[in-house]
Amino acid sequence: MPRDTARDPRYDILFEPMKIGPVTARNRFYQVPHCNGMGRNYPSSMAEMRRIKAEGGWAVVNTEEAEIHPSGDHSPWNGGRIWDDRDVPYLARMVEGIHEHDSLAGIQLNHAGLMASNRFSRLPPMAPSHQPVSDNDPVQARAMDKQDIRNLRRWYVNGAKRARDAGFDIIYVYAGHRLTTLSHFLSRDWNQRSDEYGGSLENRIRLLREVMEETKEAVGGTCGIAFRFSVDELRGALGMQSGGEGRDVVEMLAEIPDLWDVNIADWENDSATSRFKQTGYQDEYVSFVKSITTKPVVGVGRYTSPDQMVSLIKNGHLDFIGAARPSIADPFLPKKIEEGRIEDIRECIGCNICVASDSTFQPLRCTQNPTMGEEWRSGWHPERIAPRAADESVLIIGAGPAGLEAARALGQRGYGVTVAEQSDRIGGRVADERALPGLAEWGRVADYREYQISQMPNVNLYLNSPMSAETVAEFEADHIVLATGATWDRTGRGRANPLGIETAGGASVFTPDDIFKGMIPEGPVVIFDDDHFYMGGSIAEKLLEAGLYVTFVTPSATVSAWTGYTLEQHKIQAKLMEMGARMVLSHNIAQINEGHVIAECGYTGTETKIDCAHTLLVTMRQPDDTLADALAAAGISATKIGDALAPSTIAAAVHAGHRYARDLGLDRGDDVPFERELIELSHTKRHIPEL
Ligand code: ADP
Ligand code: SF4
Repeated sequence: MPRDTARDPRYDILFEPMKIGPVTARNRFYQVPHCNGMGRNYPSSMAEMRRIKAEGGWAVVNTEEAEIHPSGDHSPWNGGRIWDDRDVPYLARMVEGIHEHDSLAGIQLNHAGLMASNRFSRLPPMAPSHQPVSDNDPVQARAMDKQDIRNLRRWYVNGAKRARDAGFDIIYVYAGHRLTTLSHFLSRDWNQRSDEYGGSLENRIRLLREVMEETKEAVGGTCGIAFRFSVDELRGALGMQSGGEGRDVVEMLAEIPDLWDVNIADWENDSATSRFKQTGYQDEYVSFVKSITTKPVVGVGRYTSPDQMVSLIKNGHLDFIGAARPSIADPFLPKKIEEGRIEDIRECIGCNICVASDSTFQPLRCTQNPTMGEEWRSGWHPERIAPRAADESVLIIGAGPAGLEAARALGQRGYGVTVAEQSDRIGGRVADERALPGLAEWGRVADYREYQISQMPNVNLYLNSPMSAETVAEFEADHIVLATGATWDRTGRGRANPLGIETAGGASVFTPDDIFKGMIPEGPVVIFDDDHFYMGGSIAEKLLEAGLYVTFVTPSATVSAWTGYTLEQHKIQAKLMEMGARMVLSHNIAQINEGHVIAECGYTGTETKIDCAHTLLVTMRQPDDTLADALAAAGISATKIGDALAPSTIAAAVHAGHRYARDLGLDRGDDVPFERELIELSHTKRHIPEL
């Protein structure tokens, strides 16, 4: 809730203007380049999302990676593109929005080399040496000859000039995350050349140095040149290391760029989730950079605390506070610090649902910020919302993510809101899941909303208030919302077994809900994960921590397969293996018996008996419709939202709560509930000429 308070003078340093070569940033808040699943394919959505960041106080707002040439084509990912002048208008739209708020617009030019299979352009990918592309496509990148190198340098310069003409203030040279041809040349293993571009570091850095100098020469008079570099790739001496070649690179190029944007690689390491890494974990790798260059340094670390930001600057670790995820979770983070509204910051929880949107080619979404990606298509502003349509009251049953967000946003609109929660805790599933190993930060979903609601006189929340059809009727609210959530299925129903699993009478069966209630089994446990996101792996970790012998059975070929999209799969599987879990992959469970289960190979159907005292099923969740049915029988209309309607992610529940609040009082009829970016029919009608 906005209040009329001034900024804490301790944070003044965060609002100092900073020079980046020929341009000046109005403060130290810097949105580093980040993917968003929109890019060139949803350009209006992308541009409005970036504009909102500038409105929220980010002094520098960057694009995601922008391909400079069809030979580095990342299709089908929805990234940026600046192949020729026809790409300029959509980028210029983004720049225009950012400039409206006196912020600087930056573009991260890139040629992805062997990271791109060129699925759309069909050109052979290129690399320092012959090398299969990285994503297991049956495609090899070809070794670049001298002409290819000259071409690449020219494409960079052309891209930089186009970007300058589009109005960008900052042009990136990118050699980070092992995602670019420039970092592939730096690499000891991918660069096996014997000419002046291979061998010694002096040689391997040659192309990068040439590109940087030529970019500077081409556009350096008007644009700041930023260098984004992974100083440590966390793969030993074969890669960049902050105590080895990573440091050498910083020393060799120290004063050439106008700004150093430093991080670690791969992307899995840089955008690690809170389950595996604390805020600021990159600092130990990147903090040395400032001691080598006089140029400003930006670094990321999922920073949301202004005190931590100030100390990073005062201790000489960083000049700019870089952010991707904190700027997604709260585009108004800088403004809130500036206005002395620290407690209103919606802190990132480090779940990587945002990354998963990009990985699955969906417009950006965020667990904490339901307006992310909806700015243009739904007209949702992260801070502003239309006043109530009528002087009406709303009863929300359930204080999970859906109920809390609905209450918060309806409260902001001015409705009279009552939230009734049957348990003695706020947060619903988040209250349970925040207690799982590594997931404590997820509690911020509830904490942020609990505080916001506590500041609203028109919203009242009651714990220990189980609602029945009778008590709901007595309440006489104008609108009733069922945000009552769902429980884990105890029969094994799910993807692999739509009718459930044959279970013997005496068999001991658990679900995650039992674990949340503190019922920890004794003796060997089989966990059957047919859900494939984090829950099965998290429960396994918890039981392994408790000293149980765990056999993890899943129809998938990997553990927690969907977490590949959140950049966690390797870490989860490695952790469970290190903790001693036995893995039975690509297997369904055919029968649950007393003392054992029968697992069935997904390929051959071969059955394996696995001894266990208990079976824990993580298959699907079931909404409880008892209250909804009773209300319907009593002729009381109610709207189900979130998991009560269709169990999904926490992000989906928050979004559902928000959408309910936005839509109350609107009659959409059968209209598509958001604006679409339709592909324009090309003006050029082409016929294949007769021979
Ligand atoms: P979602 O993710 O959709 O928000 P959750 O499962 O996280 O769903 O939250 C649902 C909340 O609703 C839980 O806190 C649960 O205790 C509460 N709840 C369920 N049924 C009732 C009821 N009849 N009366 C009050 N609260 C209820
Ligand atoms: Fe942070 Fe999760 Fe939002 Fe990404 S989706 S910005 S990790 S809260």
